[in-house]
Amino acid sequence: MSLPASDTSKRADQRTTMDLGAVLPKTAAVEDDHLHIGGVDMVELAQQQGTPLYVFDEADLTFRMQEYRRAFRERYPDSDIIYASKSFLNKEVVRLAEREGLCLDVSGGGELACARMVDFPMQRVFVHGNNKTFDELNEAISAGVGRIVVDSRTELRRVAAIAKEHGTTQNIYLRITPGVEADTHEYIRTGCEDSKFGFTMREDFAFTCLEEAINTDNVRLVGLHCHIGSQIFALHSFAEAVEVMVAFMARVRDEYGYAIEELDMGGGLGIAYTAEDEPSSVDDFAETITAAVKRCCAEHDLPLPRLLVEPGRSLTANAGVTLYRVGNMKTLPGIRKYVAIDGGMSDNIRTALYHAEYEPTIANKAGQPRTEIVTLCGKHCESGDAVVIDMPLQVAAVDDIVCVFATGAYNATMASNYNGQPRPAVVFVKDGEARVTTRRETYEDLYSRDM
Ligand SMILES: *Cc1c(COP(=O)(O)O)cnc(C)c1O
Repeated sequence: MSLPASDTSKRADQRTTMDLGAVLPKTAAVEDDHLHIGGVDMVELAQQQGTPLYVFDEADLTFRMQEYRRAFRERYPDSDIIYASKSFLNKEVVRLAEREGLCLDVSGGGELACARMVDFPMQRVFVHGNNKTFDELNEAISAGVGRIVVDSRTELRRVAAIAKEHGTTQNIYLRITPGVEADTHEYIRTGCEDSKFGFTMREDFAFTCLEEAINTDNVRLVGLHCHIGSQIFALHSFAEAVEVMVAFMARVRDEYGYAIEELDMGGGLGIAYTAEDEPSSVDDFAETITAAVKRCCAEHDLPLPRLLVEPGRSLTANAGVTLYRVGNMKTLPGIRKYVAIDGGMSDNIRTALYHAEYEPTIANKAGQPRTEIVTLCGKHCESGDAVVIDMPLQVAAVDDIVCVFATGAYNATMASNYNGQPRPAVVFVKDGEARVTTRRETYEDLYSRDM
C-alpha cells in the first residue's frame, strides 16, 4: 500500500476555512483565527479532550434529520426516514434519531444491541445484512423488530423457522438488485447485477423467491427494498431504480393479486467532501424519488405505497470533523510535503482504502489562507497511511491543531486499534457546550478481552 504520486500541478489558492461552504458543519465559524463549531473553540477542545478527537455539530445533525423528514413528508405524507446506523453509531445518535422521529437501519446483532440498550422502539428498526447469522436473526425476532430485509432464499426459510419457534409472524421486505448502478456522473445498467446483496431480477429469480415468500407461513411480505449505491450525485439513477421497483410491484399484483404495501429506496445521496463537490440537495433528492413513485404508480394504476429512504452519509458526514495534533513535518523537494498527525488509518481508513478526499484546516490558524499543498500522514506502520493527500493547508508548525472536515460518516464506525491505537472519544458540541458521548478508549480497554 502506498500513496499515489503527488499531483504537482496542484496549487494552493487563497481560500480560507469559511470558503469551504457545504463541506463545513453548519455552525462552523472563525473567531480570532480559531475554528469554532457549535460555539466551542476547537483548539481549546483539543487541549481539554486530547487528540485525535471526533467532534459532531449536534445542531447540524438535528437539522439534517429534520430536513429529510420535512422534505419527504411535505411531498409524500406516508413516508419515513430510516437512519443508516453504519455511517455513525453510538448511543447518543440513536437517542437523537429517536427524538427526531426517525426509524433505524441496523446491520447485524451489534448495531441492534445499541438500539436495544437505549430503548429505541423496536417497531421502528429495520434489519439489514447479506448474511445475518442464525443468532442475529433470533435476537432480532425475539426483540420484535419492525422489518427484516430478507436477502436470500436461505434467509427467508431461516426467518420463517425462527418466527415459528417464537409463535409469531415476522414482517419482512425482500431486497432486490434493480440492475441500476449509480455513479457520480453516469449510471451503468448492468454493473449492479454482480452484487452479493439481494435477489437478482435475472431469470426471474427475484420473482420466484417472492412467490415463495408470499406462500411461507410465519412471515408477511410487506415491502420491497433496494439500495443502488453510495455517494451518488446523479439523481436520475434513483428515478431509474424507482421505475424498476414499481414495475416489479405491478407485476406482483398482476400475477398474484398481491399488494406490496411499502417501498424502501435505500440511501446513497452524495455529499461535499471537497469545495469542488456539488452534491444534490435533500429537497431535490426527495422531489426526484417522490415524483417518480407517484408517476410510476399512476402509470401502473397502483395505490401509493408507504415510502422509505435510508440515508447515512448525507446525515452524518458533514456534521462531523476530526481534530489532530501536528507532531512533525518532512519536505521532499519535487515529491511532496508531509505533515504528520497523531492519528491516521486507525481513525479514518477511507483515505488509505480508496484515496478518499478531505479538506483540512489548521484550527488555530483558521482565518489564514491555506497556501501549501500537503499530505497529512498518520502515525501508523504503513506507507499508505494518510488522511489527506495533496490538499491545501496553512503553513503548519509542531503542536498545531489540524481539523479534517466531513469525517462524520464511515470514520468512527470503521476505526481500528492498529498499532495499539486507542480509538478516539466522540464529543457532541452545541450552544457553546461540549459533551463526551463516547469516551476515549484506554490501554486497559485494548487488552480487556485477553486471557
Ligand atoms: C450503507 C447503506 C445505506 C446508507 O447509505 P449512505 O450512502 O450512507 O446514505 C442505506 N441502506 C443500506 C442497505 C446500506 O447498506
